[in-house]
Amino acid sequence: MQVFKFGGASLKDAENIKNVADIIDKYKSDIGFVVISALGKTTNALEMVINLYVNKNDFYIGAVKTLIESHLDICKDLFKNEDFTNVEQKLNSFQDAILDFLGTNTNNTYTFIYDQIVPYGELLSSTIVGEYLTSKSIKNEWIDARTIICTDSNYTEAKVDFEASIPKIKALLKTNEIKVTQGFIAKNNDGYTTTLGREGSDYTAAVISYCIDASKMVIWKDVPAVLNADPRIFKDTITLPKLSYREAIEMTYYGAQVIHPKTIKPLQNKQIPLHVKSFIDKDSIGTIIGGNDEENYISYPPIIVYKTNQVLVSISVKDFSFIAEENLSTIFKCFSNHGLRMNMTHSGAISFSACIENKMERIKSLVLALSNDFEVKYNESLELLTIRHYTQEKIDELTKNKNILLTHKTRTTIQILMRNEE
Ligand code: ASP
Ligand code: MG
Repeated sequence: MQVFKFGGASLKDAENIKNVADIIDKYKSDIGFVVISALGKTTNALEMVINLYVNKNDFYIGAVKTLIESHLDICKDLFKNEDFTNVEQKLNSFQDAILDFLGTNTNNTYTFIYDQIVPYGELLSSTIVGEYLTSKSIKNEWIDARTIICTDSNYTEAKVDFEASIPKIKALLKTNEIKVTQGFIAKNNDGYTTTLGREGSDYTAAVISYCIDASKMVIWKDVPAVLNADPRIFKDTITLPKLSYREAIEMTYYGAQVIHPKTIKPLQNKQIPLHVKSFIDKDSIGTIIGGNDEENYISYPPIIVYKTNQVLVSISVKDFSFIAEENLSTIFKCFSNHGLRMNMTHSGAISFSACIENKMERIKSLVLALSNDFEVKYNESLELLTIRHYTQEKIDELTKNKNILLTHKTRTTIQILMRNEE
């Protein structure tokens, strides 16, 4: 039994939703679950709603209505007569629920509010897809993911409680209709909605695949397969027909955006293959992720991950003592408390540097927190290039006209922090 996941791009308009239904129809005898993300850029639009709301700007009400309108516009191209009225009612009741919550909420915690509102993107999209499948006589059961995926209360980055979720997910296998559910959203022990981190729908599909021992998980995307570099930045990209779990984890760890980084582990634990396939060019083979490199005789071309807008934070001890373990542990804790992930680090005798994303508010607060004990400086507008399976030729090509600030090299991976030459 397979688990399919469709992302926002595959659902951005009526034409695309029809295409998704065709795909589901074609494979329906072998699909257990279909996991749906929010349509197009809905999550960003809901984040805007929350920002207006927390800034006490009543325009949030209009923004919610506009968002529901845009979903209804898509429905007009998908449904007729009473089918449309039925969906319209459901969508309007989601609108009422959003406005009710925001109108009566007394909790000021941003992450809590975020998790009560942003999930409506997935609730709306999965309702439209489920109803559309029904109107096409493709039998399905709409499942509220919050009744099956249990998490802790770490709002916006909640951790899945597998033990609690497994029996709930497995219980659904009693009927053999396709289950249509939402990615990204879940529920905590207090009964509140939680989310699993931006782009977390891939991870939901992997959690479900793990819990039901799926034969395969398929992510349907708007790229023909996993490529060795981001085609929006690099020309002449190469398709990777096969990737080991290890390579996929490494790629996503360094920042390749093709799959959510947490997706691979649950699949690897149960040796469930992950197929990344194009929803546009349905006959292209895509990429199969599974196994390990040795047994599959996989060899890779250079795989490139390129990140801009990086900041190098350099931290030195003030008294010329060594920056030993104790200092490092204080520094690491401080980064973690500020939600700043280190993309590359370097440690010297009296200083330590870390390359991080440019989240300026957090960086300023980090600098303040460290400034009692350390001297802290930072450098902005840097680029971080990571090449797995590098060749000297590739390194030379990609570092041409660049000033290199820091290099870190292992047998398989090179990371280069650089900026354009002035
Ligand atoms: N809709 C959520 C997001 O855009 C989750 C997802 O797409 O996977 O982050
Ligand atoms: Mg998405």
